[in-house]
Amino acid sequence: MASECNSNTGQSLKIKFTKLFINGQFVDSISGKLFETRDPRTGDVITKVAEGDKEDVDLAVKAARQAFDHGPWPRMSGYERGRIMLKLADLIEEHIEELATIDTLDGGKLLSNGKQIDIPSCSSLLRYFAGAADKIHGKTLKMSGQFQAYTLKEPIGVVGHITPWNFPSGIFFMKVAPALAAGCTMIIKPAEQTPLSALFYAHLAKQAGIPDGVLNVVTGFGPTAGAALASHMDVDKVSFTGSTEVGRLVMEAAAKSNLKAVSLELGGKSPLLIFNDADVDMAVDLARIAVFFNKGEVCVAGSRVYVQEGIYDDFVKKAVESAENWVVGDPFDPQVHQGPQVDKEQFEKVLRYIDMGKREGATLVTGGKPCGQKGYYIEPTIFKDVKEDMKIAQDEIFGPVMSLIKFKTTEEAIEKANNTKYGLAAGIVTNDLNIANRVSRSIRSGIIWINCYLATSWDCPFGGYKMSGFGREMGLQGLDKYLQVKSVVTPIYDSPW
Ligand code: NAD
Repeated sequence: MASECNSNTGQSLKIKFTKLFINGQFVDSISGKLFETRDPRTGDVITKVAEGDKEDVDLAVKAARQAFDHGPWPRMSGYERGRIMLKLADLIEEHIEELATIDTLDGGKLLSNGKQIDIPSCSSLLRYFAGAADKIHGKTLKMSGQFQAYTLKEPIGVVGHITPWNFPSGIFFMKVAPALAAGCTMIIKPAEQTPLSALFYAHLAKQAGIPDGVLNVVTGFGPTAGAALASHMDVDKVSFTGSTEVGRLVMEAAAKSNLKAVSLELGGKSPLLIFNDADVDMAVDLARIAVFFNKGEVCVAGSRVYVQEGIYDDFVKKAVESAENWVVGDPFDPQVHQGPQVDKEQFEKVLRYIDMGKREGATLVTGGKPCGQKGYYIEPTIFKDVKEDMKIAQDEIFGPVMSLIKFKTTEEAIEKANNTKYGLAAGIVTNDLNIANRVSRSIRSGIIWINCYLATSWDCPFGGYKMSGFGREMGLQGLDKYLQVKSVVTPIYDSPW
């Protein structure tokens, strides 16, 4: 099951893992079907991967159920679970180059980002939650009346994790690390566009000593494998990251099956508010990162950029210059800032939105076209004079497209920022502490960045308001969603208190 592939820049990578990982073994899917995963730089097939379906999900859930109900993982001490997780973190570090290369090949992400950010953050997530695994405690409660109670925090059970393609490694461990620490067992259904690194992590998990059945990976498509997981009667919780549309389907499936617990990390259309007193050069740099980082395929992308009227014209001029210096090209090349969109579907969707922006009457000031002869590359694109009701100001484009909107007052900025069905993130650029504090409290979103953007780490909770979902990942709150609280009550007789 190995295939060879070469990138434009000469990397050669052997793809080692392409089968489903169930109960500690790499296995073919029951149907024997395979699907292709493609290199977005060219559209060429990298390799074929086992296509899991309902029957494969059933097998994986059975293994996870057995491992939860009878296996050692939920029963061993938190300290011991943490020790094994630390071993997995070390193994990931030993394979940074190979793992980053896989995500670059499969998803078009910059290799430099993979090596410096994505893959190291997986080890950090594991180490953070490994440290928490032996600190999961309940409380002692002096109840009203002649009773006392204590609470136990127990693992929630068998978890189904469904993940998107934009951060195939980071989001895998945002879910897997806290669930392992809590003592859960799990099935991961990675996105069909980027299935390869998840299978590699399954291999490393086995090497680290995670018992069979605790971590299973079923590659395949959403409406088949993903839907089977969301509606499975023996899954206790589904943790989903992806689009708002599919999040709704996952919640419906959970409600219609066994009312499993659900957490949803969904889409966004985040505002970045830049006030008159801001340093324009710094604001332009932040906006460029907010919108174009990871080719705009970021759930918290600050794709609605609101600029106060006093600096609007200067900002537009400098933002255009800055976008034109943003290098698009092969993501293996360290000089490049932006690789290809993940696949043909996303590429065409982004181009459709650019066309829509022009037809809606926004002014295209730079970009707007595909670049290169092959692959899914798109120029960093900026529209100015965007109006609130335009589709490009309301829909999540998930590509390198910045919409610039002028505002006059702080009240107007707050109102416009909140004028969205989403509530994932927001950015504020100002030196006025009062504006920063006031606006932070007024915007309904799960994270606010003041004079920075995209600053996230494993110890800071992350998640959405409104139709961006519910539940928080990372931070100790990220652990809570994999825990149940049980109250144990006893009478206490003749207590003087
Ligand atoms: P998607 O919703 O199309 O797919 C996400 C996952 O759901 C994939 O694994 C897919 O196979 C699966 N899926 C599809 N249909 C399903 C169904 N009927 N039942 C169960 N599973 C199903 O999203 P995507 O295109 O992979 O990712 C992009 C979206 O993810 C964007 O909207 C982005 O904002 C969002 N996202 C959110 C966060 C966050 O933390 N809030 C992070 C990253 C991405």
